[in-house]
Amino acid sequence: ISPDQDHYDHLFKIVLIGDSGVGKSNLLLRYTKNQFKINSQSTIGVEFATRGIKVEDQYVRAQIWDTAGQERYRAITNAYYRNAVGALLVYDITKYSTFQNIERWFAELREHAECNISVLLVGNKSDLRQSRAVSFDEASSYAKKHNIAFIETSALDSTNVEKAFVKVIHDIYHQTI
Ligand code: GDP
Ligand code: MG
Repeated sequence: ISPDQDHYDHLFKIVLIGDSGVGKSNLLLRYTKNQFKINSQSTIGVEFATRGIKVEDQYVRAQIWDTAGQERYRAITNAYYRNAVGALLVYDITKYSTFQNIERWFAELREHAECNISVLLVGNKSDLRQSRAVSFDEASSYAKKHNIAFIETSALDSTNVEKAFVKVIHDIYHQTI
């Protein structure tokens, strides 16, 4: 039985949060379908997508939730966070304000989610080196200070996308199983 079929041992709900335009939908699209959309905006909003992964000898189904653009109005509902065991807090390395807003997203997450949720800070669009506005070191210090993991990704060229999801899935596994 492959992990993409109906059988699985564990279902992990993972939520994507962060400002509009940082690449949340494309990270999901890259990880679950190996696709990328140049001009996506909110048009590719799905409720969630899944991918199977084997961890140790167990099949895990990662059910990854994406916003349908409601983050623009800061109107993410409680239902979005309910039962989430993992979260990717995403900012855009070329837009400093999206990194500053991580503080607010992180606060909202702590308010709505379980306290033992596995959180990964994700600096996306690492392919846009020439437009970098958030240094690796500043984001890395922020993550250390808050005791969360950190990675830079590119949904466009695939760098570290797989690694980011695998990391959070493994963290959840070791937290909960
Ligand atoms: P969301 O609003 O957070 O879901 O962001 P989207 O996934 O819709 O992406 C917003 C815009 O950024 C789109 O035009 C994407 O093509 C672009 N984008 C997303 N990820 C990357 C990336 O890793 N690199 C680059 N260069 N552009 C990206
Ligand atoms: Mg989106």
